[in-house]
Amino acid sequence: MHQQQLTTCKRIVVKIGSSLVASSEGGLHLDRIERLAEEFGKLQTHNRQLVLVSSGAIVAGISHLALKTYPQDVPLQQAAAAVGQSRLLRAYEMAFEKSGHKIAQILLTHQDLADRRRFLNARHTLTTLLQLGVIPIINENDTVAVDEIRFGDNDTLAGQIAHLIDADLLVILSDVNGLYEEDPRLNPSAKLIPLVPAITNQIENLAGTSRTQASRGGMVTKIQAAKQAGRFGVPTLLLNGETPNTLGQALEGNSSGTFFSSQESSLTNRKQWIAFTLRPKGEIMLDAGAVTALVLRGKSLLASGILSVKGSFLTGSPVSCTTEEGIVFAQGLSNYSAETLQRIKGKHTSEIQQLLGALEYKEVIHRDNLALTP
Ligand code: GLU
Repeated sequence: MHQQQLTTCKRIVVKIGSSLVASSEGGLHLDRIERLAEEFGKLQTHNRQLVLVSSGAIVAGISHLALKTYPQDVPLQQAAAAVGQSRLLRAYEMAFEKSGHKIAQILLTHQDLADRRRFLNARHTLTTLLQLGVIPIINENDTVAVDEIRFGDNDTLAGQIAHLIDADLLVILSDVNGLYEEDPRLNPSAKLIPLVPAITNQIENLAGTSRTQASRGGMVTKIQAAKQAGRFGVPTLLLNGETPNTLGQALEGNSSGTFFSSQESSLTNRKQWIAFTLRPKGEIMLDAGAVTALVLRGKSLLASGILSVKGSFLTGSPVSCTTEEGIVFAQGLSNYSAETLQRIKGKHTSEIQQLLGALEYKEVIHRDNLALTP
């Protein structure tokens, strides 16, 4: 079944890991970039639509600036990214030009996707580029990204892009063959897992805490990206990009890596965005009656069902909803700030009117702005 998904998928996000395209000692791996560009160009010619998410800016910058090691301090990483990004894109441009393909550079932060208008703008731009036959190459806008607004690693960014453009498949190309039953560096005869039907705790534990020198990600972020893409309804394929034509082969039905199936999702794109793109700024705990009303009766959240409010957030902020036991079951946009909610929690409409003078909104979270999460 998953082989069929691979042979028929059209729109594909391909994440390319830093170690494939650059090293701090040797700079950009131009031969590898040329080989990948040739392979991707062929796929594009054969009716697939590719969006690349390429890392490598920081590592390329480190090499060009002759820094000794991967810098730990953020301004230096950002400076290296600024130097490396233009070199990286120049290499891609020259490589893709050989087969007559055009590319476009897109730099994003998490904040760009957390703002619905900017999210939709980015979506329109990307789909327009795809209609024009251009291959967009995305990276995190490292130069301006500080903790609050950054994805942190490009695996996570690629998972979000899969949702942004309604991709059929997310491919993560790195220097590992896929997910193994045991760490292959410790046990060379460890077996590769070809298919992961669902990302269970056991699968997450297999990822361990591996992290490579050349990138911010590791197996953990790859599994998280697959999990995130899966929630958006997009399957993920983990492949070794060091092997020539590994993606082309996989798309012909001869996959050599690990395929992670996606989940069925009944949420609309906007509700998926509320649930899985936005980061909650606070947490609202509900009584059992309110939980039932939201989950089983499709109602909006009223202040009367709120037991407690955590965090400090403004009107319109994303917040998670939990049961009395602390289980998160929904995420939504709050019509009231945390400060106001502290005053009106547990109260009925008439009491709220008295307290606030006027009732701005009947609902704390309107049903249209509420997404139930698995
Ligand atoms: N954006 C970083 C770069 O281009 C890479 C982040 C990552 O390794 O995931 O160097």
